Amino acid sequence: MSESSPASMEAIVSLCKRRGFIFQGSEIYGGLNGFWDYGPLGCELKRNIREAWWRAVVQRRDDVVGLDSAIIMHPRVWEASGHVEGFTDPMVDCRCCRRRFRADQVCEEQGLKLERGLDGRTLKLPAGVRCPACGAAELTEPRSFNLMFKTFVGPVEDSSAVTYLRPETAQGIFANFDNVLSTSRVKIPFGIAQIGKAFRNEINPRNFTFRSREFEQMELEFFIRPGTDAEWHEYWVAERLKWYASIGLPEGRLHRYVYGPDELAHYASACVDITYEFPFGTQELEGIAARGAFDLGRHQEFSGKPLQYFDPETRERFVPHVVEPSAGVDRIALALLCEAYREEWVPTADVPGEPRPAEPGQPLPEGYEARTVLRFAPCIAPVKAAVFPLLKNKPALVARARELYESLRERWPVFYDLQGAIGRRYRRQDEIGTPIGITVDFQTLEDDTVTLRDRDTMQQIRVPAAEVADRIAAAIR
Ligand code: ATP
Repeated sequence: MSESSPASMEAIVSLCKRRGFIFQGSEIYGGLNGFWDYGPLGCELKRNIREAWWRAVVQRRDDVVGLDSAIIMHPRVWEASGHVEGFTDPMVDCRCCRRRFRADQVCEEQGLKLERGLDGRTLKLPAGVRCPACGAAELTEPRSFNLMFKTFVGPVEDSSAVTYLRPETAQGIFANFDNVLSTSRVKIPFGIAQIGKAFRNEINPRNFTFRSREFEQMELEFFIRPGTDAEWHEYWVAERLKWYASIGLPEGRLHRYVYGPDELAHYASACVDITYEFPFGTQELEGIAARGAFDLGRHQEFSGKPLQYFDPETRERFVPHVVEPSAGVDRIALALLCEAYREEWVPTADVPGEPRPAEPGQPLPEGYEARTVLRFAPCIAPVKAAVFPLLKNKPALVARARELYESLRERWPVFYDLQGAIGRRYRRQDEIGTPIGITVDFQTLEDDTVTLRDRDTMQQIRVPAAEVADRIAAAIR
């Protein structure tokens, strides 16, 4: 595979399962479509994404505060937000094979466009659309399907007890606007950020974790003075692109999709999706929308409570406008895995030598072996370093390696491995993206230096053991 050709999804899915990043949800019962479980490495990866976001969006700023609101909220929230009425996807059934699809996706895949009925609201299938599964031209007309998961609160399952699992975290922020305003000393412009699970009963979950039914969002509602929408929207698009670069998603494979006037919600003045070139197509990681006063206005109307900001300087009272960057942790994790995944040919003896992209179908050149490597940016790598005693049957080596390992793991997730040849141990760490390998050998016992091996270049250098922690810290920064 060349540097530029995309990795195959199968290879990435298989690595994720084999090395404990991502498992199919409820796998021992045959799986549950649209649900995924993150294993030991996957949950570290997600934690690193969340932490990088929280640091950039909340902790390193003085105009954003955090929130952690309940997943289940009063059902009126979802009426006010518009989700009960309008959070739907158009669904079609195949009369022939009885499968169910999202009408817009089926049309798009066949180069067609969903049409509007004469009333301008109902959707109609264009002529010639076929079932993507069995090929029959037997699809029903689209019907609206609400994506919210319904549930009941309390012991009685009647209509008064119905509510929903949140389909986005944002509404918890709007509903707490006044609580936050009156308890923290925020002044406009300011933001409230939240990370948490969201649930959507997607008609057709697909592309591994990309479209799941349970996923995690990182959302910021940034409240601003009306009239400053365009500049703050631009600001946040630029900030968010910088953040993606900082976690190792290069500008070259990120794109902005700017919504045209006919694609915007009626209350929105601008919307940009940040998309990434996944192996299955260029798709959304995050949406950044300027939503005006719509959300606070609706909650004000439905709750009967004023949701306004009083500016002590100008003595004005107004409903703030909002800019909302809304990102998905799972999609970012998947993009990072796709970006990091490489199949390479590397010199056999673990001596310095350049790795090169594997050429599928070609024989391995003499003196080379194949490796799979995840070239994660160190700040998001699940394991930061691995410590290896050169030989496992030399107690002095084992003791020194163990000591070093124990001091490092006070600060980072670090791995300790004494099984097998040193080359194989490096390979195992390459495959999970550990940036630094540290080998304790006989020279260590003499002068307390160790070998540091770089995952990407495979170059090895000798450094005093006392410097190792600083070097890991520098790499992560
Ligand atoms: P799509 O058009 O792909 O369904 P959306 O525009 O409905 O996404 P938003 O409502 O803007 O998505 O949600 C914000 C973010 O939440 C998305 O950019 C994405 O990262 C994440 N997200 C939304 N739906 C899913 C899902 N089904 N699975 C995983 N992540 C999701």
